[in-house]
Amino acid sequence: SEIVDVTTLRNWLIRFAGDVEEFSALLTELDSAIGDADHGSNLARGMKAVVSVLADDSTPDSIGPILKQTGMALVSTVGGASGPLYGTFFLRMAASAGDCDALGPDSLAEAFRAGLEGVLTRGKASAGDKTMLDALIPAVETLESSLASGRPFDEAIRAGADAAEAGRDATTPMLARQGRASYLGERTVGHQDPGATSMALLFRAAANTMID
Ligand code: ADP
Ligand code: MG
Ligand code: MG
Repeated sequence: SEIVDVTTLRNWLIRFAGDVEEFSALLTELDSAIGDADHGSNLARGMKAVVSVLADDSTPDSIGPILKQTGMALVSTVGGASGPLYGTFFLRMAASAGDCDALGPDSLAEAFRAGLEGVLTRGKASAGDKTMLDALIPAVETLESSLASGRPFDEAIRAGADAAEAGRDATTPMLARQGRASYLGERTVGHQDPGATSMALLFRAAANTMID
């Protein structure tokens, strides 16, 4: 069955944009402890640009092209570490999804997997480095394994969002090994990673919009 049509995809992105706006101060506060205090404002600016792209009548009404426009808007407006990484995530999702009207559970999971591989390639970080990957990897792996074991989509995407949040929480005791935070070394221990926090919002927004 097709669970993510164009309307659902747009709803997901708009919901994420709203969540980023709502939690922008928190994301920036987390980044002020271990970075340069701009993650919330960076991502809020980027998702605001995405929402205006979605509102533009000339934006194509097809899954891959919408994801591609999203990635391009993020790359061109966010900058820093997270712009290219979130941008790559959506651009790789776009390439995986292709020009279609809707995605079923397995093609959605494949698109998330492609996005994850893009972040790994582009950022050259690994699990446990205290980055967005520590929410993204468990989210994708849990979605995949839940679907593989025959669980219905709504349970699988919820389990993915739960895993992203657990992964986000698990960044607190980690020592940062990538990005700006890595310059602070031991001083990063005890602080939750901002990028893992926004990535958990992305998967919670997916669970909240892709289940009816
Ligand atoms: P900047 O660090 O350039 O100011 P942001 O503050 O917007 O960019 O984003 C910081 C977040 O980016 C970090 O919290 C971390 O999750 C993520 N990040 C940084 N470097 C990497 C990397 N190499 N791979 C994956 N994620 C990364
Ligand atoms: Mg920053
Ligand atoms: Mg910055």
